[in-house]
Amino acid sequence: DRIIIAIDGYSSCGKSTTAKQVAAELEYAYIDTGAMYRAVTLYFLQNHILLTDSRAIQDALEHIHIEFNYNSVKGCNETYLNGLNVEEEIRKQYVANSVSEVSAIPEVRRAMVTQQQMMGNKRGVVMDGRDIGTHVFPKAELKIFMNADPIIRAQRRQLELREKGEIVELEDIIGNIKKRDYLDTTRIESPLRRADDAQLLDTSFLAIHEQVTWVVAQART
Ligand code: C5P
Repeated sequence: DRIIIAIDGYSSCGKSTTAKQVAAELEYAYIDTGAMYRAVTLYFLQNHILLTDSRAIQDALEHIHIEFNYNSVKGCNETYLNGLNVEEEIRKQYVANSVSEVSAIPEVRRAMVTQQQMMGNKRGVVMDGRDIGTHVFPKAELKIFMNADPIIRAQRRQLELREKGEIVELEDIIGNIKKRDYLDTTRIESPLRRADDAQLLDTSFLAIHEQVTWVVAQART
């Protein structure tokens, strides 16, 4: 039977890399909810939306349309904001620096969660984020909560950015990861936490293929 797999956890634990490969192996859809919050953040930055101006935020949310389109050359989904491919832009560090403030705004979360619940309704979906198992799909059949040593997370993130041509000091990345962890776990609306029935997966000393194999095995039992 096709199920919903919720993968939550801290930033840069390898959630999306794992989720993507698990989805490919099971022939499931993959939905990257972090990309949606990043796209909203990009829109807010581009349009100079003040995070204290709830009218402007409400108005902006009505003008934000996010979708994922498959890129057959790259073999993966890409994020589109109002019809434009923003996949590359939303991964940059300046977006990461603001995303946790934006995603803590209750109106933003409500708008994204509604869309995520519609996208996930088809079954046979792997969704990764911070609140999938606790809030978006509390009845997901399989819930994974990923974590890893913060230094290892920062090193992985630095490598990932470098592969995309962005050089960021390790210290700055550690700072960003700590800030995001803090904001994500302390916000009022659906904060990051492990669901009681989520299985813990520490990826500090695991290779990607080991993580994938583990999750796929859980899904098949
Ligand atoms: O997963 P990723 O690191 O791309 O997510 C970016 C940010 O979006 C997170 O640091 C978090 O602040 C926010 N986020 C969230 N809820 C989700 C997914 C992401 O608040 N379900």
